[in-house]
Amino acid sequence: MKVVLDTSALIYLNDFRNFEEIITVQEVVEEVKDKISEMKLKSLKLKVVEPSKNSLKKAEDAARKTGDFEKLSKTDLKVVSAAVENDAVIISDDRNVQNVAEELGLEYVSVFSKKISMKFTWKKVCSGCGYVSAEGEICPRCGLKMVRKVTEKMKNKTRSI
Ligand SMILES: [Zn+2]
Repeated sequence: MKVVLDTSALIYLNDFRNFEEIITVQEVVEEVKDKISEMKLKSLKLKVVEPSKNSLKKAEDAARKTGDFEKLSKTDLKVVSAAVENDAVIISDDRNVQNVAEELGLEYVSVFSKKISMKFTWKKVCSGCGYVSAEGEICPRCGLKMVRKVTEKMKNKTRSI
């Protein structure tokens, strides 16, 4: 699972083992520095990206469309753009970020969700017939490609720690 973390995700998540690639933006790293130990930051193999103006514009346009633009910080918008560019899942508790992610067709997961601590966060779904399986590249039913999908959205399923 390739993920883009926002500031709260980086601070509050403790188990990063299920992520194949952890992406974030420089602004998040800076916001996190004074809140968590350098050690945690260093122990993660973070890929810090600088989203292009093009993807930033995509995120801004989507945010204007959903009416979330004014509530989003520059950091939030960059997090969304990083997800657009890297085809990654956004991990964020921010409702505005989630709205924009949805508008852009991006998957998102809440920080305080049960799903994140579960092993099977992802399922593979056949691009042809919709067959669902935990693994496999090729659909055993129709032979088309299996793609990874979050099996259920976390809406209304968050819990506090
Ligand atoms: Zn199939």
